[in-house]
Amino acid sequence: MSDCIFCKIVDKEIPTEFLYEDETCVIFPDINPAAKTHLLVVPKKHIPTIADLEEGDEKIVGHMVKKAKDIAKEKGLTGYKLQFNVGKDGGQEIFHIHLHLTSTQG
Ligand code: AMP
Ligand code: ZN
Repeated sequence: MSDCIFCKIVDKEIPTEFLYEDETCVIFPDINPAAKTHLLVVPKKHIPTIADLEEGDEKIVGHMVKKAKDIAKEKGLTGYKLQFNVGKDGGQEIFHIHLHLTSTQG
């Protein structure tokens, strides 16, 4: 998706400091943090919304949750929230799925 900001971040066309990267996803800080810690877990595959998940994509989503858990542990967070906004009516602004990890700690 050439006009997708998160594809551009994943492809390193927009320089962004990754806290984590593997073959499936990247993790970077939200540019407009809504909490003391606010990270985004973004898959490398362009999937517009959770409502667009296809057969097999559950592996990607499961991996994202696992990596969110891992980075929270690494940062010493003992409590946090994980959230997907789904669709315009669900508050989604960027149509490339991403998992928000927010915490009052950090
Ligand atoms: P959502 O409303 O769930 O689509 O969330 C999109 C999130 O992406 C918002 O919290 C934005 O602050 C964040 N965001 C937008 N552009 C960037 C960027 N270039 N780098 C990091 N986070 C971004
Ligand atoms: Zn994309």
